[in-house]
Amino acid sequence: MRAVRCRGPRQETLLRMLENTLHHAERPDDLIIYAGLAKAARDHAALATTIRALQELDEDQTLVIQSGKPIGIFPSGPSAPLVLMATSNLIGRWATAEHFYELEQRGLIMWGGYTAGDWQYIGSQGILQGTYQTLSAVADEHFAGSLAGRLVVTAGLGGMGGAQPLAAYMAGGVAICVEADPGRIARRIESGYLERATESLDEALAWADERLAAKAPASIGLLGNAAEALPAMRARGLVPDVVTDQTPAHDMRYYVPAGMTPAEAAELRASDPDELVRRALDSAAEHVRCMLDWQDAGAVVFEYGNNIRAQAASMGVDAFRIPIFMERYIRPLFCRGLGPFRWVAASGDPADIDVVDDIVTREFPDNPLAGRWVPLARKYVRQPEAPGLPARIGWLAHGERARLAVLVNEAVKRGDLRGPVAFTRDHLDAGGVSQPLRETENMPDGSDAISDWPLLNALLNAGSGADLVAIHAGGGGYAGYMQSAGVTAIADGAPASTGRLEAVLTGDTGIGIMRYADAGYDTAADAVRQSGLRWFG
Ligand code: NAD
Repeated sequence: MRAVRCRGPRQETLLRMLENTLHHAERPDDLIIYAGLAKAARDHAALATTIRALQELDEDQTLVIQSGKPIGIFPSGPSAPLVLMATSNLIGRWATAEHFYELEQRGLIMWGGYTAGDWQYIGSQGILQGTYQTLSAVADEHFAGSLAGRLVVTAGLGGMGGAQPLAAYMAGGVAICVEADPGRIARRIESGYLERATESLDEALAWADERLAAKAPASIGLLGNAAEALPAMRARGLVPDVVTDQTPAHDMRYYVPAGMTPAEAAELRASDPDELVRRALDSAAEHVRCMLDWQDAGAVVFEYGNNIRAQAASMGVDAFRIPIFMERYIRPLFCRGLGPFRWVAASGDPADIDVVDDIVTREFPDNPLAGRWVPLARKYVRQPEAPGLPARIGWLAHGERARLAVLVNEAVKRGDLRGPVAFTRDHLDAGGVSQPLRETENMPDGSDAISDWPLLNALLNAGSGADLVAIHAGGGGYAGYMQSAGVTAIADGAPASTGRLEAVLTGDTGIGIMRYADAGYDTAADAVRQSGLRWFG
């Protein structure tokens, strides 16, 4: 057990969540956690001040952080959040990539992604489960419940994309993942997320064929550029069963253009970013044309939220014929408040996660998502070394999350665990986000771009006594595309925490199911009625 440095267990837990997020950083020296530019703190000075502020913070005070830089500590009361954040929010007309970068260069702003800026990142496990969930939904809808004998082609093995090979493997499929950077491939092999890799398309296809014939799972890394490797596969007449992508197409400064190495792209980014973006857009257009050809040939193709359709569409490609994964595979779950919930053991002891996993397995036997996932995760997911914190993601529904948190708070109080447990979730969740090209694309009432919902979610969570609440907007290439909210609520075993946890985790998904009910989804309206919440719908 590490030494406690803060004035209370909840402050200490938040400090450890910050350290845990930094532990999982793709580029720790730059404080960049994932997705090219999503940071946990504005700069090293801001990080040092944040750590000091958390150590000075009393339980009845609130630390306010603006785009990764601590601003001040305020007296707020014992049930107020310990930390409030607003990150990369720009007034609508100014919410462009150009303006964001101008402000970023002047040290005035940072992008927090969804879970980086608010210290909720748990490493690849979070995205691993989400990707597994999506691929399982694809299997259920198109392949009679299994990806066995099915080829998945995708690209990008970065912070989030690195989960794709293991997720496809766990869903029973054979994945070929194209990645431009050999260092990223090595990292995924080392972490056990990728089985093996090659630079040769022939070898990758031969390995894939062997496993496909045996209906055995496989994960194969192919060193190359998606805008070249995918068309090369198409030229051989190959049509994969499933195609998606997790290159960093949300920001063309980070998409490596065809014909360049990542190092050459980085040089051009520094010397002539406009030229780099021009070349990257040409490549992304070719990449998406190939995805469209495969869709027309019968493959199941979807965008996984990296905005590659919008980039290709800007080059005249009819890219929005490709569906977004959210509407088709995930939104039906959000209508029931089912989403990427997670619990993190502040003690650093993986045995604490086992205790919570056991409670989940025992208490929610009817939840098929957590029921299928938790045993798989126990088998395949390696918990991080200190200062990383052991964590588990489990898709629990409205009602289930609050119940679990209360049970865990009692278990902490009894001493069944060695430390507090932080409950949090992805912003990509029922209540957490508006993103008209992703989470809220094609809402039945046309409310895709209304960002009131995540803002209300954040206000409600703060009012209910969450420990940390964050309001994020898109940065870099995502500027102007999204508004979201994050929340962390801590079970420290204190009697007062029971009511806080119940209120926060009821409201957090409650506003989510009401948002979808309000938009016209009957399943969401049913979930709201069953919840017992007062609804004026
Ligand atoms: P990252 O920057 O950590 O990694 C991107 C990887 O893609 C890098 O390893 C890079 O070398 C590689 N790459 C870049 N251009 C390439 C090319 N042309 N061909 C092959 N490889 C190339 O990013 P990340 O954190 O893995 O995220 C990837 C993207 O997926 C982001 O746009 C992210 O927002 C998106 N994403 C969205 C969701 C969601 O909607 N929930 C979930 C996961 C990821």
